[in-house]
Amino acid sequence: MHRVLVVGAGVGGLAAAHRLRQRLAPEDEIWLFDRRREHIFWPSLLWVLTGTRRPEQVARPLDALRERNLRLVQAEVSAIDPTGPSVTAGGRTWTGDALVLALGADLDPAGVPGLAEAGHNLYTVAGSASGFQALEALTGGQVVVLIAGVPFKCPAAPYEAAMLVEGYLRRRRRRQAVAVSVWAAEATPMGVAGPAVSQAVTDALAQRDIAYHPDHRVVRVDPARRRIRFDAGTEIGYDLLLYVPPHRVPDPVAASGLAPRDGWVRVDPRTLQTGWERVWAIGDVTGITLPSGKLLPKAGVFAHREGDVVAERIAALFAGRDEAPVFDGHGECFIEMGGGVAGFARGDFYAEPVPVVRAYRPGRHWHLAKIGFERSWWAQWW
Ligand SMILES: Cc1cc2nc3c(=O)[nH]c(=O)nc-3n(C[C@H](O)[C@H](O)[C@H](O)COP(=O)(O)OP(=O)(O)OC[C@H]3O[C@@H](n4cnc5c(N)ncnc54)[C@H](O)[C@@H]3O)c2cc1C
Repeated sequence: MHRVLVVGAGVGGLAAAHRLRQRLAPEDEIWLFDRRREHIFWPSLLWVLTGTRRPEQVARPLDALRERNLRLVQAEVSAIDPTGPSVTAGGRTWTGDALVLALGADLDPAGVPGLAEAGHNLYTVAGSASGFQALEALTGGQVVVLIAGVPFKCPAAPYEAAMLVEGYLRRRRRRQAVAVSVWAAEATPMGVAGPAVSQAVTDALAQRDIAYHPDHRVVRVDPARRRIRFDAGTEIGYDLLLYVPPHRVPDPVAASGLAPRDGWVRVDPRTLQTGWERVWAIGDVTGITLPSGKLLPKAGVFAHREGDVVAERIAALFAGRDEAPVFDGHGECFIEMGGGVAGFARGDFYAEPVPVVRAYRPGRHWHLAKIGFERSWWAQWW
């Protein structure tokens, strides 16, 4: 009998746990740890911001996974010991034959003084829901979409948010009265995907009259005066602030020695193995440096595929097989643009010397394909 500890039941952890369940013997134990009660389908969160989805439509209870012969621990993970390997959650410790670390990235709005009080966090369900309420009530002024730090998950998401908000305002005939702008701590949108994709997103913003201000790092926000201050001394006002908070490695991961406090877990880019035997890390918690020198984007598509690969590798290890698949760095994403239109990009991020990514012409079909993806996500596991 084997025991695998899957730490985190988000995109990567869920994929790994399910693939393990398919590959291992029924008596092998798969333990899944998460502090949440629900699994969130994050790509749909952008639709909560514009009222196309209600918060309860983007979540499903993790409890249901017990029916699939997965052992669920719903508690805060407080410690990870890669030498066990073992995990401590809710005051109890489990030791396993393999550990898959999938704790994602922690959000740190408190890292910027005033930010949490001033705006709506685009990366939480509550923040997107409250952002929608504020948007509904907005009759004029300035909407600011702020990217407060890099790296952040889903490089397209804040740009999509700006375009969805723009489309919402146009539909409600309020666009003339409301300016929309994006202020980013990065030099270019989706830069890791290459200049063609960056240009496509920059053009899409310009076509919608969304002002784009790259290379602006926020230092503080004053909620009382509704002012945002940037490192170069620039100060701007806002009426509605939608923000992507700084991200950081989760505390128990930093404390475990698997990652530096100001960094991400280093893994073999193809096997996803950490520096410890029988410990793998997948998804947003990792920092995979590409041949281009940039980091592999933090995205669900990669977390999912890495989860599948690691599950296969663990199954091969237990079965004494040498042959096992590797992660190839391929991924794709939809880019919502408002008005029922989306773009699509697909590529090989491990290509040398730089990723090879193709941006497809935007259209309604990509938007419908994203809705189809959302349906298939729920159908396969719930
Ligand atoms: C608005 C938005 C839109 C997005 N759209 C897309 C998209 O279209 N395409 C795409 O590919 N990606 C998208 N993403 C990114 C994608 O959601 C993430 O990259 C993906 O979820 C990463 O998977 P993960 O398993 O590494 O981490 P997560 O899915 O974040 O899972 C980590 C899990 O660990 C749990 N956890 C963390 N710390 C602890 C602890 N101490 N104790 C217990 N549990 C803990 C969390 O509760 C969470 O469930 C989007 C993200 C956002 C926010």
